[in-house]
Amino acid sequence: MVAHPASTRLAAGTDRPGPTITGQVTLKIEDEPAAFEITIPAGNLAPDDLLPVFQGITDVMVARAEARVRSGGKSISCRAGCGACCRQLVPVSEAEARALARLVEALPEPRRSTVRAKFQDALIALDAAGVLPRVDRVCGEGEGDDDLVDLGLDYFRLGIACPFLEAESCSIHSDRPLSCREFLVTSPRENCAAPSAETVATVKMARLSPALRAVCRASTHGGWTPMVTALRFAAATPPPTRDRAGVEILGQVINRDASEPKP
Ligand code: SF4
Repeated sequence: MVAHPASTRLAAGTDRPGPTITGQVTLKIEDEPAAFEITIPAGNLAPDDLLPVFQGITDVMVARAEARVRSGGKSISCRAGCGACCRQLVPVSEAEARALARLVEALPEPRRSTVRAKFQDALIALDAAGVLPRVDRVCGEGEGDDDLVDLGLDYFRLGIACPFLEAESCSIHSDRPLSCREFLVTSPRENCAAPSAETVATVKMARLSPALRAVCRASTHGGWTPMVTALRFAAATPPPTRDRAGVEILGQVINRDASEPKP
């Protein structure tokens, strides 16, 4: 048994004008209750507005998974300075793609131009390798099929680093997507340079990222994209539609079956 905080306070969108609502939510994480006090705007929202809450819940899920790994006598191999997994096809929900585009837009110069150039270079490399049309097709059709598995392998072979990877460390750590937060391994770090099911032991845990992508996909024609195409995707995607109560969106993401097919 590992001691956990009594309740984790999370908030999203509280800088928007208008009333907010606060509710208590208890989830079962790693077979133990996890209590959250969540404050969000009272009106209609989009998944984009709730990203800080999804990130906060994911961080608790990850912390509990790490505690379970430690109590089992193992340790997490992932460290700052190891960015092997940041050359994988990292799936980013539509809401997160828009958030990343805003983040890049808000960067000071010359960093903004540098990061944009890295995104552009990645697109050029994907196109030159004939992978970009496959990315567009698979993202449009959804997740979990064989095409996506093959695409992920071909993508990794290209060795394209995430544009936010600097000195093999994540330069947007507190803003990184859910799928980045959820990826942990216990196998030796060097194995991640040429990953296979036999050599890389990922930590199994409850994950919100597939649910968030699915909820985004259910309300639009896209839903998700690989990290390196996030800026292009966000530019081509209409602004979010705020047509549902935040509580409804929270419930859709939290209660969705996290075992659905995912990359
Ligand atoms: S956002 Fe950060 S953790 Fe995620 S792939 Fe990019 S560099 Fe890696």
